[in-house]
Amino acid sequence: MNLRNCARCGKMFNYVAGQPICEPCKKALEDDFQKVKAYIEENPRASLRQISEDNQVTTKQIQTWIREERLMFSKDSPLQLTCENCGELIQTGRFCAKCKTSMANNLNDTFAKPKPALQQPVKQEKKAGMRFLDT
Ligand SMILES: [Zn+2]
Ligand SMILES: [Zn+2]
Repeated sequence: MNLRNCARCGKMFNYVAGQPICEPCKKALEDDFQKVKAYIEENPRASLRQISEDNQVTTKQIQTWIREERLMFSKDSPLQLTCENCGELIQTGRFCAKCKTSMANNLNDTFAKPKPALQQPVKQEKKAGMRFLDT
């Protein structure tokens, strides 16, 4: 047994794998996703806030789906997603096709580990004392 608190409703549940969310919440989330997906197809020009308000889904959740490349936006969407690497307009995910390809190539060329988050500050210095992970 691996009991955890559901990240969505806070209830304890038996965690197996994937997102730390209980079964009923997983279902609810999937319903939300389908709803949002259909909504975007019908309202390609809706803004993030509009989508969030009309579907009762947090903008954070919508952004998560975008990063997971589950939601696609048309070119005339006001969302203006940009590649995190070069700033090119993209329709889903975090990087444009070009950057994805060059990242994949870099990976093959060297044994460097993937570094999608290029601008992440290095905060690994040993800090004395007790420091817990931010929650
Ligand atoms: Zn839950
Ligand atoms: Zn790019």
